[in-house]
Amino acid sequence: MNTAQNYNVLIVGAGLFGLTIAERLIHECNKNVLMIDKRNHIGGNCYSEFDKDTGIECHKYGAHLFHTPLKNVWEYVNHFTSFTNYTHKVYTIHNNIVYPLPINLGTINQFFGAAYTPDAAKALIKEQSANTPANPKNLTEQGISLIGEPLFDAFIKNYTTKQWQTPAEKLSPDIIKRLPVRYNYDNRYFNDVYEGLPTNGYGAWFQNIVDSCGDKLSIHLETDYFNDTEVQNLCKSGILTIYTGPIDQFYAYQFGELKWRSLNFEKEILNVDDFQGCPVMNYADLQPEYTRIHEFKHFHPERKDNPEYKKSAYAENSNKTIIVREYSKTWHRGEEPYYPVNTAEDQKRLAQYQALAATDKNVIFGGRLGEYAYYDMDKTIAAALAKFQEIKSKIQ
Ligand code: FAD
Ligand code: UDP
Repeated sequence: MNTAQNYNVLIVGAGLFGLTIAERLIHECNKNVLMIDKRNHIGGNCYSEFDKDTGIECHKYGAHLFHTPLKNVWEYVNHFTSFTNYTHKVYTIHNNIVYPLPINLGTINQFFGAAYTPDAAKALIKEQSANTPANPKNLTEQGISLIGEPLFDAFIKNYTTKQWQTPAEKLSPDIIKRLPVRYNYDNRYFNDVYEGLPTNGYGAWFQNIVDSCGDKLSIHLETDYFNDTEVQNLCKSGILTIYTGPIDQFYAYQFGELKWRSLNFEKEILNVDDFQGCPVMNYADLQPEYTRIHEFKHFHPERKDNPEYKKSAYAENSNKTIIVREYSKTWHRGEEPYYPVNTAEDQKRLAQYQALAATDKNVIFGGRLGEYAYYDMDKTIAAALAKFQEIKSKIQ
């Protein structure tokens, strides 16, 4: 890599945050951008690839569903890809019985073996959550206040234990507020106005961003910031650097590690057309150890009828399916940090790193890892667009 070339900005990480900032800097400010990523592909955790044997698109780092209430983000992403009209549905297994998620009137009536009306169900949950404080301070208090103790114990308590390996009393109430609770039979997983999957896959979406940047964007893959002194020197020279890796690693963990949880994915190709009848099945009990199974072909039911795909491996191998079992684990150095655990101790540590970052005038930390934030894709893009406005006023 020729770092002596006339780059205006260095971006560490080719995920959605890095790509969005790069695209904006190039199109609005005509800057030359050098982007590196330690992986062998762009797109960060949203990356997907088409399985060669079956033609099924697999999300390499866990299922990614695009949804947003934000009009500006929806308009922005539609410049680079169209979206299918997919709406996400999830089911869960508890005591060998399948229930719909998120918790809705269907779940409640099935669980209690009843035929409650919306008002009767609300009255029941109010009674079952009566002992929780008015301002829930952790996931358990928040969960019970939303759905009462019996439903919390069945669908949330053990799943959360498996997923976070941290007592729910230490976890933020915000984690559980991600899930809607509905007193009707609507079982869309998300509430957002805009939802869908990139029509030609995540890879095509990200490649379109890169293509739009032309030769103003130079990307070097399989380049780890910490193993590349040339790139580090470029950053140290004072060039504007957007860093989207973990903030604690950038500062050599000097205040200690932020807590993350990581994941293991176990992929299997099966000789059946349909393994579970839905895209995602959660496992609410402590056994099995995996938290959920993704069956990727259900994300794109429209592809069966598309003439392009009919000619491909997808049609030839339509009697096969790909499933991925997702296991959660505590993160250790060297593993992929996926989810910020964000306990009170982590928040204190993060504040120390952020104070240090404020003294590094040319480095901007962004994205899920750089900000230690549980951002969905739309929130990542919104944060990048907002950060770009800040940068723009300084860089021009
Ligand atoms: P990342 O995608 O993590 O990109 C950061 C990049 O930086 C990576 O490519 C990494 O390799 C690179 N990097 C890190 N350190 C270095 C280094 N030292 N040198 C060079 N490169 C480096 N969002 C949704 O909206 N819907 C979903 O359904 C959804 N599902 C998810 C499921 C899972 C399992 C996970 C983990 C996340 C999910 N998300 C979902 C969130 C989504 O993945 C993030 O919002 C998005 O990936 C954040 O983009 P980013 O650029 O901040 O980070
Ligand atoms: N959750 C749960 N049971 C479920 C699904 C979710 O207890 O069947 C809880 C769990 O604590 C999880 C949180 O709700 O971490 C948010 O769930 P979501 O599906 O949004 O998590 P993600 O897709 O980001 O892993």
